Amino acid sequence: MYCLICGDKCDSFKYEYEDIDCYRCENCELIFKDPAIYQSFDEQKPRYDLHENDSDSAGYRIYFQKFIDFVLPRTDSIDAALDFGCGESSLLADMLIEQGIACDYYDPIYHSDQEYKNSRYDLITSVEVFEHLHDPMTVFKELLSIVNKDGYIAIRTEFHLNSIDRFSTWHYPRDPTHIVFFSPKTFRIMCELQGCKYLADNGKNMILVQER
Ligand SMILES: [Zn+2]
Repeated sequence: MYCLICGDKCDSFKYEYEDIDCYRCENCELIFKDPAIYQSFDEQKPRYDLHENDSDSAGYRIYFQKFIDFVLPRTDSIDAALDFGCGESSLLADMLIEQGIACDYYDPIYHSDQEYKNSRYDLITSVEVFEHLHDPMTVFKELLSIVNKDGYIAIRTEFHLNSIDRFSTWHYPRDPTHIVFFSPKTFRIMCELQGCKYLADNGKNMILVQER
């Protein structure tokens, strides 16, 4: 199997929890489940419907505020933003609007108007999306193509612990819709391959990159 990000050949290991094969790339540290088990949006929707992303939930506001607090102090002149893969709720977009930023949102299941493709943004956020992507590099490229020069992409996804033993007991892959897992190095290599700049990560689950 070849790496979904860098194209290097990857060795497999058994993920006992789902009794499936997974692959790990030594070059870019991507870990991914066997693409043969990836599901369509229709198959995944019942699982997403369980995510209670209630806009009134104080817990979600705190969760998104932590992300905003990581991103905005590291950025300049954000006028227009897109929240890509927002889920059912537009809460993160609403919170960016409260900060004076014009913000669109898109989700392939719940808000599927693709008008965003005709716009250009200073910032694209994508929270708990990349671990679901069948082809993360193609999506990353598409997002870069609609970011203005010197604009930003901010991603939240849990970084794996770079150990197959720890992967086997980690909660994150137990969600069957979570299929690809990144480390900061994976994002660094994605940036190198796309010629954009890796700005920052928080060592845990957030990264910020800049188009140039
Ligand atoms: Zn790779």
